[in-house]
Amino acid sequence: NKSTMGGIYLEEQERPLKLHFIPYPAPGHMIPLCDIATLFTSNGHHVTIITTPSNAQILDNSIPSHRYLHLHIVHFPSHEVGLPDGVENLSAVSDMVNAARVHEATTLLRSPIEQFVEQHPPDCIVADFLMPWVHDVAHKLNIPRLAFNGFSLFAVCAMVNLHHSTSKAAFVPNLPHPITLNATPPKLLTRFMQPLLETEQKSYGLIVNSFAELDGEEYVELYEKSTGHKAWHLGPASLICRTSVEEKAERGQKSVVGAEQCLSWLNSKAVNSVVYICFGSLCHFPDEQLYEIACGVEASGHQFIWVVPEKRGKENENENENEKEMERWVPSGFEERNREKGMIIKGWAPQVVILGHPAIGAFLTHCGWNSTVEAVSAGVPMITWPVHDEQFYNEKLITHLRGLGVEVGAREWTFIGFGERKRLVSRDCIDKAVRRLMDGADQSLAIRRRAKEYATKAAKAVQQHGSSLNTFTALIHDLKRFRDRTSLHQHHFPTFPPK
Ligand code: UDP
Repeated sequence: NKSTMGGIYLEEQERPLKLHFIPYPAPGHMIPLCDIATLFTSNGHHVTIITTPSNAQILDNSIPSHRYLHLHIVHFPSHEVGLPDGVENLSAVSDMVNAARVHEATTLLRSPIEQFVEQHPPDCIVADFLMPWVHDVAHKLNIPRLAFNGFSLFAVCAMVNLHHSTSKAAFVPNLPHPITLNATPPKLLTRFMQPLLETEQKSYGLIVNSFAELDGEEYVELYEKSTGHKAWHLGPASLICRTSVEEKAERGQKSVVGAEQCLSWLNSKAVNSVVYICFGSLCHFPDEQLYEIACGVEASGHQFIWVVPEKRGKENENENENEKEMERWVPSGFEERNREKGMIIKGWAPQVVILGHPAIGAFLTHCGWNSTVEAVSAGVPMITWPVHDEQFYNEKLITHLRGLGVEVGAREWTFIGFGERKRLVSRDCIDKAVRRLMDGADQSLAIRRRAKEYATKAAKAVQQHGSSLNTFTALIHDLKRFRDRTSLHQHHFPTFPPK
């Protein structure tokens, strides 16, 4: 009878959800998705992150532990694809051949993951779109699959439209705003992305590491209308669960420099006086480009923290290797001349801690989506230098749509962050862009003001009644309804629940 059914429904509604998260092994994908996983556990839901041994070690050290958070470890097929033991993440390789091997290995994870999911079916699977085979696994078992791609929703809308365009120009048609990108995407990237995006569109919904105000309601509407499913903005991920300096510093990988050391250096600097320079976890510039950056930043006269790439892919990685690496390209006397003015971090930096310091006045960034949303959350204006993936779209969101930065003038779009580059960004362009933001002209003050406004919006989004937290509540409700409807159907209550 009706009241019993109501009783069952209520009881079911209170039962926590069981979710499996399947992150892709690259920092820009793993970090935000695992932070989002903690949003579920801290609200009483049970999460299993399915990953491989080396990545589990990274996660063990980098995500706050919680009694509802578990790791399930599957073997990484290093030998099968020709990678050395322990190399299980894109951040551990620096060439296309090995990057392709890491990706190939993720396709071989299907069988052990499928087995696990069959034996332990969850109420929902949240998986990276770079593992499209999860769609078939989830579909077979009638489990809703939420996709995650680590992009802004604006970029997803633009990508889908550019793919459908026959135009050779980088003009993106059919968007609420006319957008012309500073470069055209390489064909290889378009060919790689298209089937992934198509499978993503078959998912139950898309999880986005951002807040709706940053993408803009018009892009949320456009996306939902064209895909028929929802985009769930749950971010910024960096603001979800980490409050202390230690927790922020642990995000991602182990830093080569202590957070305290960075903070005490920054404490000695004036507000808005330091440029933070970092190109994410996958970007390897050729020596000539690194040389130009050094000259450009030095010419600007501004203080800086510069994260330079570490030596990778060697088992005997150490500080000396990184020193030798730098000797190849650093202008003579650069480090001595800039001992006071600059801090060079050779390897992984505690980025969120650095961005959160008031001395940081600008972020010279490759516009990776995580870096972008972290800068927005910290109220730091950006100097945009897109390199690969969807970063040229993010640049337009930052500069053209939201007015949160200036462009350095990058024109070369590569498939991935390493490999050959034909066009350098000159020291002049770098010098000029740094000055435009840092010299306090009218335009830069307006950008700085907007950056602070968006930081306030980001903070509000993850607070009670904020847009992301409301979206999270709606998502939980939606997933529970799906689960309860399915389980009631399985128990032969054919007419319940009403839509
Ligand atoms: N990151 C960091 N320290 C570093 C380099 C990167 O903490 O030295 C983090 C950064 O905060 C961000 C992620 O790594 O969360 C990089 O993601 P993003 O999307 O910006 O770029 P990708 O590495 O995917 O190109």
